[in-house]
Amino acid sequence: MFRPALRLERPTTSETADLPQRFAIPATVEQVLLVASLFWALAANRLFFGAALKDRGLTDPASWGFALALGVLLVALHFLLLAPVSNRWTVKPLLALLTVATAFATFFMKSYSVFLDPSMLRNVLRTDVHEARELFTWTLLPHLLIYALLPLLLLWRVRVVQRPWRRAALVRLAALLLAAVAAVGALMAVFQPFSSLMRNHKEVRYLITPANYLWSLGAVVAADAKGAAAPRQPIGLDARPGPTWASAARPRLLVLVVGETARAANWGLNGYARQTTPELAQLPVIPFKDVTACGTNTEVSLPCMFAAVGRRDYDESRIRGSEGLLHVAARAGVAVHWRDNQSGCKGVCDGLPNDSVESLKLPGLCAEGRCLDEGLLHGLAQRLASAQGVQLLVLHQLGNHGPSYFRRYPAAFNRFTPACESDDLRLCSREQIVNAYDNALLYTDHVVARLIRQLQASAGQVDTAVIYASDHGESLGENNLFLHGIPHAIAPDVQTKVPMLMWFSPGFTQALGLDTACLQRRAAEPASHDHLFHTLLGMLDVRSSVHEPRWDLTQGCRSGSSAAH
Ligand SMILES: [Zn+2]
Repeated sequence: MFRPALRLERPTTSETADLPQRFAIPATVEQVLLVASLFWALAANRLFFGAALKDRGLTDPASWGFALALGVLLVALHFLLLAPVSNRWTVKPLLALLTVATAFATFFMKSYSVFLDPSMLRNVLRTDVHEARELFTWTLLPHLLIYALLPLLLLWRVRVVQRPWRRAALVRLAALLLAAVAAVGALMAVFQPFSSLMRNHKEVRYLITPANYLWSLGAVVAADAKGAAAPRQPIGLDARPGPTWASAARPRLLVLVVGETARAANWGLNGYARQTTPELAQLPVIPFKDVTACGTNTEVSLPCMFAAVGRRDYDESRIRGSEGLLHVAARAGVAVHWRDNQSGCKGVCDGLPNDSVESLKLPGLCAEGRCLDEGLLHGLAQRLASAQGVQLLVLHQLGNHGPSYFRRYPAAFNRFTPACESDDLRLCSREQIVNAYDNALLYTDHVVARLIRQLQASAGQVDTAVIYASDHGESLGENNLFLHGIPHAIAPDVQTKVPMLMWFSPGFTQALGLDTACLQRRAAEPASHDHLFHTLLGMLDVRSSVHEPRWDLTQGCRSGSSAAH
């Protein structure tokens, strides 16, 4: 299949002197790149095409048009990616390297259903020889034979022809232009379905091979270079246990639930017309009515929620470059554990114990890499039964992660109907979208209430407390805006105002000398994510110079000597 495309140009005899003529396939750099790009589009992107065409009928001519446009796009993309770094000397080593790497990548992706995004690539790069041996079974050999060895044999026979540099430059320029025109043309032809695909299934782009691992490798190298330039600054080096640690009659467990995309406007406890928090309303919780989030997306809000200085003097590089709450608490002797049901802890639990709901392999709770939030509570009974000292457990929810709100709750919580049951919000009415969103809040209400009831049941053995706070809000069609991520300064309140609440076991308030009636009054005043770092240190009774009492919501609501700083 390679020969016809490669026979377009004859070499001069002098250039083929080092390989016998009968072994050589003469070709220009552009021809070699085109064939390689075609080969990858066809042989390395079956997963991508499968995902992109998943919901389409094969009998529909539009599906074939879409597939063809995607194919042209892939060929043009890889051509444009490789052409700038390819010349007569580099093209063959470069393609040889990429051919082998791509064969490994496609095997890895197919066998383990993975997307080669930066975090996955980081995992791959951190894989040691022992793990790698388990990953690659003997079935790898026939795969490498077909997808690496055969193309390499063909590549070896290619003889790159030499042309006068003026002509070579002109041809290269024309080829690049042609590839760009092809890419833009293909994109324009299928812009509507393509942009919808990229919006609703962002992860699909990480199936485009080999562009996926090249991009991810670049992202990892860039992030590491940045991280190496500024190692995480330790803070709170003087952190130590406060006096209540020794005087406490029982072990202590503080649970911080980091919510996802829950907005205050739809939160029953905050006065929403619909009761979206029926279970929490039955419990003695303290809802904070006016809480401002640090950011309007997880990447900004999450690190900020654990930072000593958050939105009030926002500095992203300081936040990412410094240790946070969990490191200070751990330094004082708090047993910290992060359990994730979303996209990881964004560095705030680096080097500390953590696990994910998905890794627990709980039956019936997970599908397609996403798990219901009740998995966060797995093992809580054992943790309570064996509790010692002071513990901080962080539960990172999937919560109301959009746009597929309907996937965030089990069928029993489909109470506001009809709910939008499409991943594409444009196919639903506003009412349906809000219904699905509110149903997901009902499920968060259930998860947090279940957590509190379980802690209540152990109140005789362990002093416990819960803080729930959402990371940011969500737009549900107000001013035609959906989802979130508008820059903080111009974001509507629905994206920045979030629900937050506290709950304490009687033993916990007693041990800390907390006045809950005072906290109820404080909860009516404005608060923000900036309070979390200092409030949590206060509730854990960790003493350190980084603890600023005026940002501790419990300050002024404590009695006795434990209030002394
Ligand atoms: Zn978020």
